[in-house]
Amino acid sequence: AKEMGKNTYAVFSDEMNNGVHQKLHLESDLREALALNQFIVHYQPQIDIETGTAFGVEALVRWQKPDGTLVSPAQFIPVAEETGLISQLDMWVLETSCRAGKIWHDLQLDLRVSVNFSTRLLHQNDIVERVVEILKRTGFSADRLTIEITETTLMHDVTRSLRTIKALREHGISFSLDDFGTGYSSLSYLRTLPIQTLKVDRSFIKDLGTNTPDAASLVKSIIGLATNLGLDVVAEGVETLEQQEFLMKHNCFKIQGYYYAPPLPEKDALIWIQHFLNK
Ligand code: C2E
Ligand code: CA
Ligand code: CA
Ligand code: CA
Repeated sequence: AKEMGKNTYAVFSDEMNNGVHQKLHLESDLREALALNQFIVHYQPQIDIETGTAFGVEALVRWQKPDGTLVSPAQFIPVAEETGLISQLDMWVLETSCRAGKIWHDLQLDLRVSVNFSTRLLHQNDIVERVVEILKRTGFSADRLTIEITETTLMHDVTRSLRTIKALREHGISFSLDDFGTGYSSLSYLRTLPIQTLKVDRSFIKDLGTNTPDAASLVKSIIGLATNLGLDVVAEGVETLEQQEFLMKHNCFKIQGYYYAPPLPEKDALIWIQHFLNK
């Protein structure tokens, strides 16, 4: 058998996929998992290759079953979204990540923490108060927090999204548009959006250097667009030196991907970052 690293996922078997019964099953399992504290957060380092620093981490949730297997968010986030459990889960991830961020800050590490917000969560009535409350409770500074939202979340109710984003911005929180290029946000919105960062979706990075002809020009365009709008750009899913070199050549220096590090448990992320900074 192939070696199974601790970041390897268990995949649900085919019979478990789809089907109403399975979904109901998964919903009650998720509720139970929340109650029993079976979720964990992994942190994937984000590197600035220009300065040679790790400037941040993205918090990514996993479900750790009692037998130790890790279930990928791709397997449960859709059900969590459908059932509304996602808001509770995202808030838990936010609080957990802010606690970790506070610990790193106290160790003099200059790291931003990025968390993913679902559509439901961003559009929740009391979201601003709840986020501010978590920052207060954990002692993590709002200036170091980035909230990642997708174009779909943003476009779900643009007026409301803008109001919420602006309110959170006033507290010092930054915003990043995730999976950029895969959704439908129009360029005219982009110009007026109070966001700071675009994340180039992994699907485009993956096709760099293959004979998918459009990948390179797409990535170049996204980087150019971000730069012209004065936004930061982070490339996700970078796995190879060739991809990194392409990105550097086109002035994208912020990298997240297996080429550097996978998402890691909190302690391992700290060790990885300290080691990287001391190299
Ligand atoms: P995402 O926000 O686009 O996160 C990036 C995904 O790409 C992560 O998958 C990460 O592990 C993976 N990745 C990073 N670098 C590489 C690479 O070099 N190669 C490959 N093949 N993959 C790479 P992950 O952790 O499985 O998460 C999948 C998605 O689940 C996330 O995509 C996000 O949409 C969602 N998700 C994860 N955690 C949360 C959360 O706490 N809340 C919400 N609402 N969604 C979450
Ligand atoms: Ca993300
Ligand atoms: Ca992404
Ligand atoms: Ca993605």
